[in-house]
Amino acid sequence: RRALGSLGKSRAKFISAEESTGVTFDDFAGQEYIKRELQEIVRILKNDEEFQDKGIYSPKGVLLYGPPGTGKTLLAKAIAGEAGLPFFAANGTDFVEMFVGVAASRVKDLFASARSFAPSIIFIDEIDAIGSKRGGPDIGGGGAEREQGLLQILTELDGFKVSTSQVLIIGATNRLDILDPALLRKGRFDKIIRVGLPSKDGRLAILKVHARNKYFNSEEEKEALLQEIAELTEDFTGAELQNILNEAGILTARKDLDNIGREELLEALKRQKGTFETGQEDSKEIPDELKLRLAYREAAVAVLACYFPDPYRPFSKTDINSIRSQPNMQYTENPGRVFSRKSDYVNSIVRACAPRVIEEEMFGVDNMCWIASKATLEASKLAEFLVLQTGMTAFGKAYYRKQGDLVPNLAAKLEALRDEYMRYAVDKCSSVLREYHSAVETITDILLDKGEITAAEIWDIYNKAPRIQQPAVNQVDEYGALIYAGRWGIHGITLPG
Ligand code: ADP
Repeated sequence: RRALGSLGKSRAKFISAEESTGVTFDDFAGQEYIKRELQEIVRILKNDEEFQDKGIYSPKGVLLYGPPGTGKTLLAKAIAGEAGLPFFAANGTDFVEMFVGVAASRVKDLFASARSFAPSIIFIDEIDAIGSKRGGPDIGGGGAEREQGLLQILTELDGFKVSTSQVLIIGATNRLDILDPALLRKGRFDKIIRVGLPSKDGRLAILKVHARNKYFNSEEEKEALLQEIAELTEDFTGAELQNILNEAGILTARKDLDNIGREELLEALKRQKGTFETGQEDSKEIPDELKLRLAYREAAVAVLACYFPDPYRPFSKTDINSIRSQPNMQYTENPGRVFSRKSDYVNSIVRACAPRVIEEEMFGVDNMCWIASKATLEASKLAEFLVLQTGMTAFGKAYYRKQGDLVPNLAAKLEALRDEYMRYAVDKCSSVLREYHSAVETITDILLDKGEITAAEIWDIYNKAPRIQQPAVNQVDEYGALIYAGRWGIHGITLPG
C-alpha cells in the first residue's frame, strides 16, 4: 500500500491526508435520502469500469451545503471510507493567503497529490472562502488572490477526464448563495446536496449513533431518555447532539456513576444550550440585568412573530433560561412548506431586526450588549441574499450574472440597495415595537416572573394589547411587504442598454 503519511508533513502542510477514513454511512444518522444518493456514487466509484461500459459516470464534484455541524465532513469521510479510497482534505480558508500566487499553487498541490493516489477523494471544507462570486462585493478582502485560486479549481475540475483514474472532489459550504455560479456548472460540482438540520426522528437516530458506546441503566430507559432529548432539541445540529451525550458522560463520571441517567442528560442539554456561544460555565446564575435584556429580546421577537407570522414555522414558546446570541424562541416546523415569496423574505428581515432594535430602544445605543448579534447577522445576510440572489429586487440574479462585470460600481450599488432594505426593516420593526409597546412590556413581565411563556399566552396578550398608532413607514404592497426600493430606477440607477 502506498504511504500517505509523508504527505501531510513535507510538501503541503495544509493538506490532511488519510489512507482510510474508517468512517461509514452507519456513522451518519437521519436524512436517509442523502445516504441513498451518496451510496449510488460510491457504487459507481467502486465498480468504475463496469458502470463505464454502461455509460454511467460518477459526478466530478459533489457539493454539500448546510449549517455547520450537520455532518458534511462526516459524509465526505464516509464516501471515502465506503469506497475504500484515500482522502485528501483542505480548508478553503487555507488557500486565501496574503502572498500572491499561493492560492493557485495550493490548489495545484492538492489536486496533484490526490491524482498521484487516484482513484481518491478530495474534500474542501468552507469552499466559499475561495469559491465566492467574482466581481461581487469584496467582503473579506484579498479578492484578486482568491480569484486566482478559484480559476485554478475550475481549471483542475475541467482538466481531468472522467475515467478510472478519477478524483472525486467534495466541497462543503454553509453559503451556497455566495458561491461563484461557474463552480456549479455541469461537469464541475454537478451534484448539489443539502444537508439540513435533523428532524425529530433524525435527532433520535443521531443520538442513538452517539449513545452506542455509552452505558445506561436499561435499553428501555435509554430509548425513553433519548426520545425525550430528541423532543427538546429542535434546531440542534448533529454536532450539538453529540456534545450533549459526551457532556452527559463526563457529568456521570464526575459523580462516580456507571450509567448515564436523566439528570445528567438534562444537565448536559442545559449546558449545551447555555454555553453554546458565551462559554459561560453555568447558565443557572444569569445576572438580573442580563435576564431583563433576555426578556425584552424574547418579548420583541414574540411581538414581531405575531405581527408577521411565519406561515412555515409557527412559534411554540420561549424562555429566558439560557443565554445565547440568538433568540430562544422555539418554532415548530410546518411540513407543508412549498416556497417563499418576496414578502416572506422581507418580513423575515424585519423580524430578525427585533433583538437589535429593542436592545437599542430599551438600553440605549451605547449600552447594548451581544445578545442581538446572531439575529442581526441573519437580517443582513437575508437582505444581501434578497438583493443579490433572488431576482426579486431591482438587481436580480439574471441581470447581475450577465452584466455584473460590465457595470462600473455595481457592487457598491448593490450594497446600497441591501442597506436600504435593512434601513426599511429597522424602521418597520421599531414602528411595530412602539405600536405594541404595551404587549412587549406585558410579555417581558411574564418572562421575568415565570421564566417562560407559551404561544397561546403570547397571542392572547398581542390581540388584547392597546396599540399606539404609528405613522406608516414607507410604502407597502398588497402582501404587506415593501415596494420601496424594489422597483426599477427608484435609485436613479441607469440600466445599461
Ligand atoms: P460539518 O462538516 O457539517 O460542519 P461535521 O461533519 O464536522 O459537520 O460534524 C461534526 C460531528 O458531529 C461529526 O463528526 C459527528 O460526530 C456529529 N454529527 C453531525 N451530524 C451528524 C449526523 N447526521 N449523524 C451522526 N453524527 C453527526
